[in-house]
Amino acid sequence: MLRELKLLSEPSLKSPLKVTLCLTARCNLDCRHCYADCNRVDAPPELCASEWQAFIDEAMHAGVISFFIEGGEPLLRPDCFELLRLMCPRALTRVRTNGTLVTAALAHELKAVGVGGVYVDFMGARPQTHDALAGVEGTHQLAREAVAHLLAVGLPVTPLIVLNRANADEMSDFLTMARALGVKEVGILRLYPIGRARRRWRELALSLDEQMQVIRSLRPPPGLRYMHSWHPQNGNCCWQMAAVDPYGTSIGCAYLRELVNYGNVREVPFLETWEHPLYRTLRQGKVAETCPTCAAGEGTDGGCRATAFTFHRRWDAPDPFDEPLNAGVDLRELPQWMLESDQRATPAAGT
Ligand code: SF4
Ligand code: SF4
Repeated sequence: MLRELKLLSEPSLKSPLKVTLCLTARCNLDCRHCYADCNRVDAPPELCASEWQAFIDEAMHAGVISFFIEGGEPLLRPDCFELLRLMCPRALTRVRTNGTLVTAALAHELKAVGVGGVYVDFMGARPQTHDALAGVEGTHQLAREAVAHLLAVGLPVTPLIVLNRANADEMSDFLTMARALGVKEVGILRLYPIGRARRRWRELALSLDEQMQVIRSLRPPPGLRYMHSWHPQNGNCCWQMAAVDPYGTSIGCAYLRELVNYGNVREVPFLETWEHPLYRTLRQGKVAETCPTCAAGEGTDGGCRATAFTFHRRWDAPDPFDEPLNAGVDLRELPQWMLESDQRATPAAGT
């Protein structure tokens, strides 16, 4: 079915099914790789509660069935529960958090408001690795306690970890730790060159061979599923995605936050940004190259558009994190244009 939809010359959907709300770019941690570049002193004002409410209402009216809430640390916003109360009864709503604010009482509140699941970020399996990457001591322990509190109230919990040079030898321990905590699913995610990860790319990035070695070596303990973001699980999912950053910019996906600007929901209705020509192009899913196993596994071709564009500066390029399509790209080296300060300002990215 997806394959048939993708072959249409028009985007498949008239409105999005899933939306990510990047509620804030504030955080109580200071991660070395933070994609949201949290706590920038020069950040513009974030959307207030009434602006988010208006956006949520428009999204619901347009038929959105699932919200994904992230930050920064979304639980830092005093109006976080006010917004969750709007979303939870009407759509599957999941929250991503660093876990540091999740007490037993807050876990109960999340359950009571109707959250459908919680993703908790780990930076490493070992406390010293996690705390060093997060920039705050004791936060590995708090993330572990958060998982326990959330499981205790019956919420599905998925610990997440971003594979990078500092934690690459801890992935197996991460699976063991997660299972011991009682979860049934974890996610191992690739490192994206955005925010502080872009600026620290040489320190954090691994070659594709190094990444695949880690992924192939994993043997999850019985009872634990793990998802990851490499071939053949790295589908081109732009066709269904929408996201809005803390400042109201419609960005399609949180991983595209520094590459596109489809308009601002403060100034235009969200559905107007949905019709931006580049957004329409990405939702058509046309790529110059793909591989049969990718198409067979996902029904969408060519892998992630964010990393395809980053390394090739073409939206229809192959995703170099996809082994069959890598074609010799060294993922440890970012192209020069990515090292510049504002990729969104470049004509190639914005049109
Ligand atoms: S916990 Fe997440 S949002 Fe906070 S600084 Fe770390 S990466 Fe950024
Ligand atoms: S940028 Fe990548 S992760 Fe985001 S929606 Fe597109 S393909 Fe999916």
